[in-house]
Amino acid sequence: MKKDTNKEQMALTPEEILTRFMTEQQMRKTPERYAILNVVMNMDGHNSADQILEMMPDDFHVSRGSVYNTLHLLVECGLVFTHQIQGVTLYEKAYGISQHHHYICNGCNKIWDLYDTQIEQVASKVRTPRFKKIRCTTYIYGLCNLCQAKLARMKKKQEKEMKANMTREEIRFARIDEELAKAAEWFK
Ligand SMILES: [Zn+2]
Ligand SMILES: [Zn+2]
Repeated sequence: MKKDTNKEQMALTPEEILTRFMTEQQMRKTPERYAILNVVMNMDGHNSADQILEMMPDDFHVSRGSVYNTLHLLVECGLVFTHQIQGVTLYEKAYGISQHHHYICNGCNKIWDLYDTQIEQVASKVRTPRFKKIRCTTYIYGLCNLCQAKLARMKKKQEKEMKANMTREEIRFARIDEELAKAAEWFK
């Protein structure tokens, strides 16, 4: 997207951007589409289509299908970004949001925003022959502190269960093995 187009987009409200897009595409301007837009513009973070459907006001009956269609429309007119997390599409508003990156926990699939201009600086220097860059988005995958603790608990439990099934001789040898591993650190 060109810089001036971006400025022009920002001068318009999300409703105006959607209206203009639907007029150009000769689409029906249904109240459902504006209601979905309103929910998306007021939501925080990154949500699935089903989560967005749940956020719809109770007196407003929209089908799952029209939520999907409208989200697709919002992506097309640049009001919404999508993220693919373990096969699930998450939506995030793009309007009035500054450029950012994400880090994601492989354990619980939680996603965090990451604001770091160094990433853009590096990306702008990366050569992409015969290719014009539009934007750069980075995902860092890992394990959050809660999932790290969960993993440690599971490992401990596994070890305990393994020990419970061990014979006396096996336990003795496991201990010797531990001692040997420690000794290896000292006698490098
Ligand atoms: Zn996690
Ligand atoms: Zn984000």
